[in-house]
Amino acid sequence: MTARVVIVGNGMAGARLAGELHAREGDRKVTVLGAEPHRAYNRILLSTLLAGRIGEPDVELTEAAGHGVDLRSGVPVTAIDRSARQVRTDDGERIGYDHLVLATGARAVVPSLPGLDPANLPERVVPFRTLDDCRRILAAADGARSALVLGGGLLGLEAARGLATRGLATTVVHPREHLMERQLDPAAGAVLAGTLAGFGVTVQLGVSATGVATDANGVRLDLADGRSLHADLLVLSCGVRPDTALAQAAGLTVRRGVVVDDRLRTSDRSISAIGDCAEHDGVLTGLVAPAWAQAQVLADVLTGTDPLARYRPRPVVTRLKAAGIDLASMGDAAGGEPGEELTFADPARGTYARLRIRDERLIGAILLGDNPAVGTVIQLFDRGHPVPTDRRALLLGRALGAVGATPAASPALMPDAATVCQCNTVSKGALVRSWRSGARTVDAVVAATRAGTGCGGCRDAVSGIVDWLSQAESVEVTR
Ligand SMILES: Cc1cc2nc3c(=O)[nH]c(=O)nc-3n(C[C@H](O)[C@H](O)[C@H](O)COP(=O)(O)OP(=O)(O)OC[C@H]3O[C@@H](n4cnc5c(N)ncnc54)[C@H](O)[C@@H]3O)c2cc1C
Repeated sequence: MTARVVIVGNGMAGARLAGELHAREGDRKVTVLGAEPHRAYNRILLSTLLAGRIGEPDVELTEAAGHGVDLRSGVPVTAIDRSARQVRTDDGERIGYDHLVLATGARAVVPSLPGLDPANLPERVVPFRTLDDCRRILAAADGARSALVLGGGLLGLEAARGLATRGLATTVVHPREHLMERQLDPAAGAVLAGTLAGFGVTVQLGVSATGVATDANGVRLDLADGRSLHADLLVLSCGVRPDTALAQAAGLTVRRGVVVDDRLRTSDRSISAIGDCAEHDGVLTGLVAPAWAQAQVLADVLTGTDPLARYRPRPVVTRLKAAGIDLASMGDAAGGEPGEELTFADPARGTYARLRIRDERLIGAILLGDNPAVGTVIQLFDRGHPVPTDRRALLLGRALGAVGATPAASPALMPDAATVCQCNTVSKGALVRSWRSGARTVDAVVAATRAGTGCGGCRDAVSGIVDWLSQAESVEVTR
């Protein structure tokens, strides 16, 4: 009998899983039910779309939806009947499964403030999670002169930078004392605020919002210190909450997310969960690299390709996708765990670096501003390799020959195991192997390995490696 796999959610995790299942041999029917009316798209590129650096066609995901995959968009699942092994859709259809996968992602949090009804937000007040949200922000920004962003985390700052790029005077309101407090220390937050100011983004820190009012002329955001800020639109970037409603109603174990084991199984062996909705080992990931790693493990387990495959979390590197601002933060960057501390700050140039080292290994780092050592620092952190004796090279980004090389600087010096694409966990060795198997252009290498198809931050590094391989080959041929 053909095994029936039903995937709820056609976001980044669900679409990737369908593609992974499609790519593996075997007789099975895969049904993907997605609430959003669109084809699967790359959610993380919405910031780049908002900034006008790419167009809508560029965010479409190229995951397989071919033979053996029944893809239905605009079809929300409303209930799971575990005893009958069926899901029910909002148009009343019942679809049977042998294995069900929840990939329902997360929803933007709408803060409970007077004037904000989450079910009926005013036109000028928009969260930032979906393609439709992005369209609404762009529609509201069209002809607007000013914008407010509530929330100074990663996404709020990416939205603010994008709106400023479009010429809007933009103010970020953040209740904490410094920006991106989950990834940065106060000194880095201050340097970042200075850099943003140079791009036309003003920051109001340490003050909460107390209410919102809108009328035909714009939005008013009331603050706890008695002030009110006015603008043409308000973007809400106040965090996300895993979408666990279906799992909860079906009686699965749910804490903050749907609880899964190393095989991504929920408390019901016939149901798995991956991506932003899943909680593994007490951790919610909220990032694409773990979601895609989980999709791969689950596909291996479900198809029997590797029944022993297990999900093992990897160290996380966060990068800000904002034009003109280079920022990478990793590990215990903001402090907490004991360790050796090295910092360098040059606020006038928008530069800040902090390395946290224990037992000769990086346990955390913040690199803000132009620092040519960023690739090396990420590799050292990712691989857990010892740091060089002269730490200044990492901190100041100079004399890199002594400690290694950034992918762009010299691919020849990179170890094969170095991870080039963090989103898809693609090593330099995998890129070289795809080249040797016949992929001779950047596009061909990307298609073979998927490197560069997540946030796109490694595209230059991939191009550098392909250039290096081409040159190495032409030298060999002329010899
Ligand atoms: C603007 C932005 C920028 C980001 N930048 C980065 C970044 O640089 N790096 C990074 O790693 N991560 C980034 N993220 C986070 C990343 O997008 C998420 O981690 C990723 O999308 C998680 O994938 P997912 O499939 O679990 O969830 P989602 O992509 O949210 O997909 C879940 C899907 O399930 C659907 N769904 C929910 N309930 C149902 C139901 N009952 N029936 C049917 N369908 C349902 C939803 O409609 C949605 O389409 C960013 C997010 C945003 C919004």
